[in-house]
Amino acid sequence: MITSENYFSQENQMKYFGSSQFKAFASCEAAALAEIKAEYIPEETTALLVGSYVDAHFEGTLDIFQAQHPSIFTRQGDLKAEYRRAEQIIQRLERDKLFMKYMAGKKQVIMTGELFGYPWKIKIDSYLEKEAIVDLKVMKDFRPIWVDGQGKIPFVEAWGYDLQAAVYQTIEGNKLPFIVAGATKEPVTDLDLFEIPQYKMDIALKLIEARIDRFADIKAGIETPRRCEECDYCKMTKVLTRIKPYDDGEAVA
Ligand SMILES: [Zn+2]
Repeated sequence: MITSENYFSQENQMKYFGSSQFKAFASCEAAALAEIKAEYIPEETTALLVGSYVDAHFEGTLDIFQAQHPSIFTRQGDLKAEYRRAEQIIQRLERDKLFMKYMAGKKQVIMTGELFGYPWKIKIDSYLEKEAIVDLKVMKDFRPIWVDGQGKIPFVEAWGYDLQAAVYQTIEGNKLPFIVAGATKEPVTDLDLFEIPQYKMDIALKLIEARIDRFADIKAGIETPRRCEECDYCKMTKVLTRIKPYDDGEAVA
């Protein structure tokens, strides 16, 4: 039985795929596998924690979150500035009726199912049965993001929310719309409800289908994970075996 307590356990991370895990494999196979095996624990950044703070509020578990993260308080016991910002974001969101309607579903609903022959797990932030799957995202802003090789693309695609939408919709099983309930950390918080069009989810599914067998084989120890040589994990585990010209691999105009 998969619960909120064991959702990210090593056993369940090995047994199930999840949209975050798939994205991790797509960005660096070596780091993703090391993370599953708990050989690598990515740093809990303040940016991530601010999002988790807002999540915890809407889930109704802010007390537990605060107890588990003493680093969000100053030595005097006040909330640090970033989390006071999180409080302001929450107050702004609660002022909007439509936003709150979509945040009023069942919270943190866990489901499992099969996709392309493998077991997957999902956790829905706000589940409006027969109506919508809602995921709360707190981000810097809503502007397009530069991605190497792709140029500036919408934040939804840059962060792989289209991929998450495709997985969630399939596992939920009723072709429900997937809505990103977005809020920004800008000095004045922006907010919006973004629907991911069906064709974008269909494209994302194709992308998953094309890569999932390899990722499953890596988890099973059949394939060797590739290193991206760019991420923090690859930097941490890099072993020098040679010297190289400083402009190696770079196009020189
Ligand atoms: Zn890497």
